[in-house]
Amino acid sequence: MSSIWTKVRKNTPEIDCGLCGFTTCGAFARSIVVGKAKISACPVLGLNQYAQEREELENISRDVKNTQRPAPEQPEGGVLLSKPCTDSPDLLMAEMRIFNGVKPGEPMKYGVLDPVILCWFLDCVSSRYEDMRCSKELAYAWGNMEEIRVHILRDGRVRMRRARGADHALDSFRIIERTVMGSIICNCCGRDLLTILAGFAEPEEEYHTVLEAGSTLSLDSELVEWTPKKGKVDTKQISEMIDFVDDLYNTMIDQLDLLISGNHPPQSIQENRAKICKIISLMVDPLMKGNETIFLRGLSLAFFIDSAIMGLSSLSSLMSDGSVKKTHILKLLNAAKKASLKELSLLSMDDSETLSFTHSHRVERAIRLYEQWSKD
Ligand code: SF4
Repeated sequence: MSSIWTKVRKNTPEIDCGLCGFTTCGAFARSIVVGKAKISACPVLGLNQYAQEREELENISRDVKNTQRPAPEQPEGGVLLSKPCTDSPDLLMAEMRIFNGVKPGEPMKYGVLDPVILCWFLDCVSSRYEDMRCSKELAYAWGNMEEIRVHILRDGRVRMRRARGADHALDSFRIIERTVMGSIICNCCGRDLLTILAGFAEPEEEYHTVLEAGSTLSLDSELVEWTPKKGKVDTKQISEMIDFVDDLYNTMIDQLDLLISGNHPPQSIQENRAKICKIISLMVDPLMKGNETIFLRGLSLAFFIDSAIMGLSSLSSLMSDGSVKKTHILKLLNAAKKASLKELSLLSMDDSETLSFTHSHRVERAIRLYEQWSKD
């Protein structure tokens, strides 16, 4: 039984190119569900090969029911409820909530946690949990954390059983909250925190509720736009994080150059994901408490570079199977490298060429972000 958001997302191209104005197909899907985006805003859904998905989306969006609920009160530390555990009366059951900064009583438009990012991040730190499972379809995660049984719901509720006491439950909740922080969705625009921290926000929206997110944690507003630079940080873990981001970027540029020179880049998806997981593990390290904002900034860049590498891999396949002229892809990639893609018009392109444009757009976006990140 999947959520309406999942049904909509599954019918998007899942390319995350950003041409619709949302950096991910997931954020676009959320905006369709609340009636804030039109299906026609996605140029990829206009292609013949996505005709079925487009029709499906049109059918779903006609039936969409607005499911907004008012945000609950935000108690101190995020603990909503605790009572004796049904498994053992000596132990405790607790419910806590991760907030996305929406004020109590105001409508929660999009849910609180992006299930795709939630599952990805939980997977990265699975060694901290036993049997943690996460379903993107059900938008739900569950597992054991030491002896505590944990359930994480998309609306931000975290339920625990078998905690030794309130402090034990709260300490475990803090670890969970730090792990999943990047997946918190802004209530004003439906974008996730990683996207907002990368600098992609609706121009007309000046204030993003997600910047006030968290129950036991909060972002450091002074660091929201600060870029950590090597030599200007004295923390080993932050330097390591910068190295992982640089490695990932260099991998992307090497692969881009290989493709431009007519060769096919190696598939390195697992290796790249491992680098991103290392950044998440560094962020969750208890010694790094207070530096979450810096790590989330690094993660947001890594997230978009990873998407660009996936785009290069798709372009390599399109080149190999001959579905798009090699010269066209080379033109797009060279334009992406110089950040001049927008000068090329989608109107004169056929379906396959448009698809190549979307993948090249992912590359251009990553290059721009990295340049911004590395400039003094
Ligand atoms: S494919 Fe691109 S344009 Fe279409 S919904 Fe996804 S991010 Fe938006």
